[in-house]
Amino acid sequence: MDHHRAASTLKDLLEGNGRFVAGKPRYARDITSAREAAPGQEPAAVVFTCIDSRVTAESVFDCDFGQLLVVRTAGHVPDRAAVGSLEFSAAVLNVSLVVVLGHERCGAIQAALQAVESDEHDPRADYLVEQLWQPASQALSEAGEDHDTASHALRLQVRRTVADLSRRSSLEGVLVVGAVYDLDTGVVSLVDEN
Ligand SMILES: [Zn+2]
Repeated sequence: MDHHRAASTLKDLLEGNGRFVAGKPRYARDITSAREAAPGQEPAAVVFTCIDSRVTAESVFDCDFGQLLVVRTAGHVPDRAAVGSLEFSAAVLNVSLVVVLGHERCGAIQAALQAVESDEHDPRADYLVEQLWQPASQALSEAGEDHDTASHALRLQVRRTVADLSRRSSLEGVLVVGAVYDLDTGVVSLVDEN
């Protein structure tokens, strides 16, 4: 599979993150750029991330209007509507890259960890707790002195989402990579596959 275009897009996104971290964004994302982008879009990538209010993909990757598609579910759970949006992005908008972007101190992951530990949770969180039960319980069972349980659970969930998307024939040809956003530093780090 030729992922040349996707790899080049990923490099661009990480360079954008570098500008963001350095406090030197290229795009103001004001009304002028909104108008310039208005006639049509040619986004190069989709970021599939959490709903967290502190994670703003366009800022984090310093992208302008029209450059990035963003799909969000709590804990980036790849349910049908989210996957359908990614499939649409690949099929109709010709996107070659999906970045699954988790983040530190994720409330959804935290809720799942607490639910596994205490065996009780708010019934309105049923869906998410069920979806995130596996990475939460695995992280707790692997808990050790050398890593933070929440951070480990988050990485497991990123890998799990990447694996889920990567094996779908509907997304064949699309490069799916996992990454984690550090709320404090603004840095996006790629997550390896294992
Ligand atoms: Zn989150």
